[in-house]
Amino acid sequence: MTVREAIEKLMVYGIRNELIEAADSIYAANHVYDVMGLEPEYDFNPAAGNLDMNDVTPLEEILSCLLDDACDRGRIDSGVASRDLFDTRIMGCLTPRPSDVIKKFHEKYQESPEAATDYFYKLSKDSDYIRTYRIKKDRKWPAATRYGSLDITINLSKPEKDPKAIAAALSRKQEQYPMCLLCPTNTGYAGRLDHPARQTIRLIPLKLDGADWFMQYSPYVYYNEHCIVLSGEHVPMKIEKATFRRLMDFLKLFPHYTIGSNADLPIVGGSILTHEHFQGGRYEFAMERAGIREKVSFKEFEDIEAGIVEWPMSVIRLDSADPDRIVELADKILSAWRSYSDTDNDIYAETDGTPHNTITPIARMRGGLFELDLVLRNNRTTDEFPLGIFHPHQELHHIKKENIGLIEVMGLAVLPARLLGEMEELKKAILSGDDIHNIPSIEAHADWADEICRKRNDITPDNIDHIIEEEIGLVFANVLEHCGVFKDNEQGREGFRMFIQSV
Ligand SMILES: [Zn+2]
Repeated sequence: MTVREAIEKLMVYGIRNELIEAADSIYAANHVYDVMGLEPEYDFNPAAGNLDMNDVTPLEEILSCLLDDACDRGRIDSGVASRDLFDTRIMGCLTPRPSDVIKKFHEKYQESPEAATDYFYKLSKDSDYIRTYRIKKDRKWPAATRYGSLDITINLSKPEKDPKAIAAALSRKQEQYPMCLLCPTNTGYAGRLDHPARQTIRLIPLKLDGADWFMQYSPYVYYNEHCIVLSGEHVPMKIEKATFRRLMDFLKLFPHYTIGSNADLPIVGGSILTHEHFQGGRYEFAMERAGIREKVSFKEFEDIEAGIVEWPMSVIRLDSADPDRIVELADKILSAWRSYSDTDNDIYAETDGTPHNTITPIARMRGGLFELDLVLRNNRTTDEFPLGIFHPHQELHHIKKENIGLIEVMGLAVLPARLLGEMEELKKAILSGDDIHNIPSIEAHADWADEICRKRNDITPDNIDHIIEEEIGLVFANVLEHCGVFKDNEQGREGFRMFIQSV
């Protein structure tokens, strides 16, 4: 494919996917030539009538032709960061302006909220903001556990983050533009080697609890229609009464989406604490399928159906037709939890003035009712558990040591890419009976592998893939159990009841 052919094909792609209209093709093609730093040949004419509208060359191939040419001519270097900056710049020539996208979104919303999000999600993929061909390489599987079927994914498109680096970022001075990855000022930004290009990102403005917020999709798509809902201002994560009101307001606008917030403290929060945001999407998480273990009732809120969820973490579920009542009760539970200590269960609300208690809230509609899950969290560390008492403990770090944030809490494990290669090596070693303790690259998995071999004496080349997948699922269930503040045993259950009493 020549550059000229690639640009013609790109115009066909843009028209077919409604990024541009037929009348835009000459204009957009000239922009792409400019980005390439090339002059078109004298007889180049990409008017729609001259294009082969039946061409269905995949976008990845078209872009790769343009990227290779730019590399060969030394216009960009061949690193993936440079290539990503460059092809986003190219796709920016075809992506409709923010105001056009917002207008179209509102038109579709008149049809239905689903039609609006369908349009916006498709645009986010077609513009290559979401690199679907890269996401496709992620590994995903369901894993049966006593809490139902959990989702495991090995993400190949996002680097692992160290919890300490995340905490450090919170105190770092913000002097860069855009101040963070979630700031609305990213729209159209050309990017740098240490910050992704955002010519193709589009944001939809929303009013939540009277404030200006925006919705965009996540470029990493951990699950279907994975959206990010962010504050118009760069302000730190904070769980407060207004958070619950905003979640309810979001559900009124998009009742077909789940929406939740990460907690506002390090270790138990997400990877970005510096900019207030929610994450949601059109996906049934395992937690949503989990039933009620024990019904409870809160004084003066007898109209709200409440219960403790059958889940490895400590979750109170509230259901009501009236979102305002849910907000009132959730706020009461939050205030009670912030200052609640239960030394028998190792829960200290604060140490030396540093607060440890917070909540991960998750909201959805269920059978016409508003539903809010409140997950109780505590981020205290000790010498024995320097990464957190209610965090995966040392023996599980070979699978997961990162923060257990909102997405994991809901039952979807996002595991680091390094695991893929390690598991292949591990399977080979198990099958050939090697001593894994002597293989440095997978030594971290040795105790776990020994345990698996003890448990299963039927491992064969045919079933080992499945066995390892199952076992990773069991580790993940265990990870979530470690994060639960009230354990599922007599002492934990009793502690949970006492907290609910105290509310
Ligand atoms: Zn920001």
